[in-house]
Amino acid sequence: MSTETPTTPERSDFIREIVAADLREGRVQSVVTRFPPEPNGYLHIGHAKAICIDFGVARDFGGRTNLRFDDTNPTKEEQEYIEGIQEDIHWLGFDWGEHLYFASDYYEQLYEWAVYLINAGKAYVDDLSADEIREYRGTLTEPGRNSPWRERSVAENLDLFERMRAGEFPDGARVLRARIDMASPNMNLRDPVLYRILHAEHPRTGDTWCIYPMYDFAHGQSDAIEGVTHSLCSLEFEIHRPLYDWFIENLPVPSRPHQYEFARLNITYTVLSKRVLLRLVNEGHVRGWDDPRMPTLAGLRRRGFPPEGIRQFVAEVGVAKADSTVEMGMFEHVIRDVLNRKALRRFAVLRPLKVVIENYPEDLVEEMEAPNNPEDPGAGSRRVPFSRELWIEREDFMEEPPAKFFRLAPGREVRLRSAYFVTCTGVVKNEAGEVTELRCTYDPATRGGDSPDGRRPKATLHWLSARAAVPAEVRLYDYLFSRPDPGADGDLFADLNPASEEVLRGAFVEASTAELPVGETVQFERLGYFCPDPDSAPGALVFNRTLTLKDTWAKVQAAGKQG
Ligand code: ATP
Ligand code: MG
Repeated sequence: MSTETPTTPERSDFIREIVAADLREGRVQSVVTRFPPEPNGYLHIGHAKAICIDFGVARDFGGRTNLRFDDTNPTKEEQEYIEGIQEDIHWLGFDWGEHLYFASDYYEQLYEWAVYLINAGKAYVDDLSADEIREYRGTLTEPGRNSPWRERSVAENLDLFERMRAGEFPDGARVLRARIDMASPNMNLRDPVLYRILHAEHPRTGDTWCIYPMYDFAHGQSDAIEGVTHSLCSLEFEIHRPLYDWFIENLPVPSRPHQYEFARLNITYTVLSKRVLLRLVNEGHVRGWDDPRMPTLAGLRRRGFPPEGIRQFVAEVGVAKADSTVEMGMFEHVIRDVLNRKALRRFAVLRPLKVVIENYPEDLVEEMEAPNNPEDPGAGSRRVPFSRELWIEREDFMEEPPAKFFRLAPGREVRLRSAYFVTCTGVVKNEAGEVTELRCTYDPATRGGDSPDGRRPKATLHWLSARAAVPAEVRLYDYLFSRPDPGADGDLFADLNPASEEVLRGAFVEASTAELPVGETVQFERLGYFCPDPDSAPGALVFNRTLTLKDTWAKVQAAGKQG
């Protein structure tokens, strides 16, 4: 696992310009940002964007970033997520050092501030039901109506709020609301709920509390407690900012955070919403939060996407103010680019067909020298054993090849990469008439894959010695959804791609790949990028296909540049 701190400074953007000006003009002495996940699921690639911005901005200006769990909803939050989120941020390459915080650490302070608002006549206990509150709130075109409980005395409010805390009332019986403006054009300012009654066990505070602050009441004040200077978040919180500012202005908070919003990341063929991802897991559509098809960081890690590729992708997407959707092809292009440079080359045969080299000695095994990465001369080479019986890819042979099929066929010569030229001299078939084995001859003068007489076969195939190859299960992955805009017709789950996973049993891999650590991605030549899955065990190897080699995005881009 990579935990190096990324140091490449990002291009400047509107947030970095604001921060630079705040420092230059002395409004801020030292930059403090935070990443504030709610521990109600695992992080996804959208969160990676926020993490890269939060940690990246602080790093670029010599500041620091807090990791704060906004754990205000005990019914949905779990310790498993608290741990998973920390692991994922470290994997992505960022570290909060000593600055790990929880909104639940501030419950007592937040309660005191709620009492402060009551005393100032700016909060009241409301007995309306949730449905009534919704009905009284009005709509975007109609103002709301005041609750009949809005004019309660301070003394009565203090008494009721204290009894809410003491556990006297059942869930949903009462709420504490801010007393702002039921006619505000911003719905968030129509007397928002600050506290609700929830007799629920909290992962950190246990049963100490039976009233919990709403996210909106906790978030800005938590920033203020921590001295956060620049509170960066995605665009959907823009409409909440006036409310956060109202709290900050009406409470004796120790500092004044400022919030700036950037565009949410959306990617085609997937969904970035913890709520939806949780359903995919719970309803068994995937193997878990870390399924290689999931857009979660845990899933991308299991799939073999390197963290530097994810950071590179986020940097290329940039920090904009307007929401947009990024092509999955662009994400994959960036990942391929990173893998092409660093992934070691290995041989594997996914759907094997036996080849017998009739003029090759029975007991001979030759060690062929194959480059580890032709893109990187420093990567050296490895030895791959060659013998009389080999595996090649079934689709690399056709008994009756059509005009444009240049690979192996009866009577035809091809190159086996880094080994010899071989010519197909015959086929063996089973009772059903299927080809089960090829008979070939090899030319000893072509050792290493070159002919002294300048012969150049039209095809170069990968291969494995049947003696030395190791069996493996290989899982091929495709998009989780079969359309770029899943759910656009209303039913998201109907758009799941039924062919998003194909499991191949009976594949073979080069023996050296058995040593690869889980998640270390290699290129199986001509096939794509693959990495060992956590399910892999000695004697029962399992590989995931990270990506195919085909890069249609690069072609689209090249075409765009020409035209
Ligand atoms: P989801 O909608 O998937 O449940 P969320 O916004 O509820 O995500 P939080 O845990 O509240 O998840 O998010 C933590 C931070 O990550 C927030 O500051 C939010 O702005 C940011 N974030 C979440 N999703 C995205 C996204 N798709 N693109 C950019 N930032 C995001
Ligand atoms: Mg949220």
